[in-house]
Amino acid sequence: MIKVAINGYGTIGKRVADAVDAQDDMEVIGVTKTGPNFGCQLAVKKQYPLYCTSDEEEKINLFSEQGYICHGGITKLLELADIVVDCSPGKMGKMNLEKYKGAGIKHIFQGGEKHELTGLSYTSCANHKAALNANGARVVSCNTTGLSRTLVPLHDNCEGISVECTMIRRAADPGDSQRGPINAIKPVLKVPSHHGIDVMTVKPEIKINSLAVAVPTTLMHVHSLVVELPPNHGLTTESVIKLWKEQPRVIVMNGTENRIPTTAEVMELSRDIGRKWGDLHEIFVWEEAVSLKGNKLYYFQAVHQESDVIPENIDCIRALMGTNSDWKNSVSITDEAISRYNGI
Ligand code: NAD
Repeated sequence: MIKVAINGYGTIGKRVADAVDAQDDMEVIGVTKTGPNFGCQLAVKKQYPLYCTSDEEEKINLFSEQGYICHGGITKLLELADIVVDCSPGKMGKMNLEKYKGAGIKHIFQGGEKHELTGLSYTSCANHKAALNANGARVVSCNTTGLSRTLVPLHDNCEGISVECTMIRRAADPGDSQRGPINAIKPVLKVPSHHGIDVMTVKPEIKINSLAVAVPTTLMHVHSLVVELPPNHGLTTESVIKLWKEQPRVIVMNGTENRIPTTAEVMELSRDIGRKWGDLHEIFVWEEAVSLKGNKLYYFQAVHQESDVIPENIDCIRALMGTNSDWKNSVSITDEAISRYNGI
């Protein structure tokens, strides 16, 4: 059993913990919280041992004052684990990396950190083999993961694709009242945006530029894409759709026939199929909007920002631990375990 520590039990951390708990080859050895707040109750309910993100006695003692059993600080947790999944807020990675190196433990960071932190970025379908037995990696952001899911199979079929895309980004997560805009459309004025560049950290052969705007929704991101395929690509609209239907973690569905015209209905679909927190790990592509004209492929896809990276973290654990060298095999084990998981 791979012993997994989760450092930071927030939006991503609580989901990664449950996804680890669902697997037969790994277990949650502990999760950290900064202090005794509401989120601790979920960890207690799930019976995940609770640790403090700090080693300071004063902070650790605060937990018992609020009636929580805290087993110690982060250093103690790292001593017990084989690997740590860092789910702290973005830009804390540098500080935490020192702790992981000090403990000599394998580590996975999230997309809020820069590629340079580990020098290795990861997406299951793009570069699983490159991460085998590595000491550390960064699972790329929700947007980069979403782009990779549909672009990598296109690249694998006809090398030499060139992509222009616009990321229509959710303003905030549903549980986040701090961010906006709430009544504006906010263009990201750094052009091109970092999203496209980030895809090249996992698949450098894909040429891609992106623009981004934030809009007042909490539900999902939508990507609007134009992909230039190489001459003699040999693909048709139908064969592209077939390619994506055969690709793990991609859903291609006719939005008009199924009455799923917007991200609101996509999220309703994920609630209907009984996903925890209403999550959708798959990328959703509107089938009728996939259109190949000459060598230009047009499509829209929707990304559930809080959850598409969750199963990727599980595959990344297997890659770093060197226990599964085949990405498709790992993906099917991960997804099957998550689909039958019935944790409280
Ligand atoms: P979050 O704010 O919901 O959760 C972060 C948790 O880490 C909180 O519980 C916080 O108390 C805790 N924390 C604070 N300081 C810490 C420290 N020093 N060490 C460990 N934990 C600490 O954030 P999130 O949305 O879960 O994001 C986590 C990471 O995942 C970020 O890098 C983010 O960019 C990335 N990510 C987020 C999303 C998303 O939609 N929320 C999607 C993909 C990737």
